[in-house]
Amino acid sequence: MIYQRTLAKEVKVTGIGLHSGRKVTMRVQPADADYGFQFKRTDIPGSLPMRADARSVGATENATTIGQGREAIHTVEHLLAVLYGLGINNAHIEIDGPEVPIMDGSGASFVFLLKETGIRNLNKSKKFIVILDTVRVEKDGKWAQFDPHPTLMIDSTIVFAHPVIKTQREVFDFTCENFINEIARARTFGFARDVDMLKRKGLIKGGSLDNAIVMDDFKVINPEGLRFGNEFVRHKILDTLGDVSLLGHEIAGKITTFKSGHNLHNLLCRKLLDTPAAFEIVSASNLKAEVRDAFKLPQGIAIAH
Ligand SMILES: [Zn+2]
Repeated sequence: MIYQRTLAKEVKVTGIGLHSGRKVTMRVQPADADYGFQFKRTDIPGSLPMRADARSVGATENATTIGQGREAIHTVEHLLAVLYGLGINNAHIEIDGPEVPIMDGSGASFVFLLKETGIRNLNKSKKFIVILDTVRVEKDGKWAQFDPHPTLMIDSTIVFAHPVIKTQREVFDFTCENFINEIARARTFGFARDVDMLKRKGLIKGGSLDNAIVMDDFKVINPEGLRFGNEFVRHKILDTLGDVSLLGHEIAGKITTFKSGHNLHNLLCRKLLDTPAAFEIVSASNLKAEVRDAFKLPQGIAIAH
């Protein structure tokens, strides 16, 4: 049996929103089995919790947004990736602003805080979405697809006409430990030449070298350099994991992406959900041990029962 997980207790995080530039406080709170992830805006009186799932995604330009209009919550993907990465299925998340804080542009701060807090097993089995058939989406030479595979694997390729990035490919075999060591610390990135254009569009008002890798036309500007030689494609895997976690269950299948982004990830999830013959939802106890073993937590993370 592998149980659904939540947090052992509340985690409070204060930071700034990448796009809004506003300071926000986020509280991630324990929740019961089958609650999923629900976000609530506490700065808007009467605002109701919104369930985060692939069909509740509004905008996908530069970040993934849950909901629409003034109650929307932006940039949920890194937090969701970390929750998936630690095998957490249920949490109630309150934010006093429009955006999850960007922290250092990766999932590292959320991993650190959740490690400190500990994780609680709930008295109900995890369920998995098992991919049975290929589902593919394509748009403007970019594509993403699901294929059958016993465990979650993400094979990601990015292509940028920039000397530091060029073509990068990484194949990530999901385990909680691999996620923490290989993916969680990879930061988001951008190009100095795009900064003015994005700011004119009202985006990245909170952007700085503290929360993104920034490149001029030749090199990385950040004085500390890169955390991995291919940090860029590792961040793409972080984004992909956060976006596909919106399917609502752990995934047993392979995801291959080529030049993908949040929009394509969401289209892929919606197409899968619209293709019932391509997947089944299975209790974890009916799956092979290797699927369950992927969710063993590394030493140093306390599990409460
Ligand atoms: Zn990202």
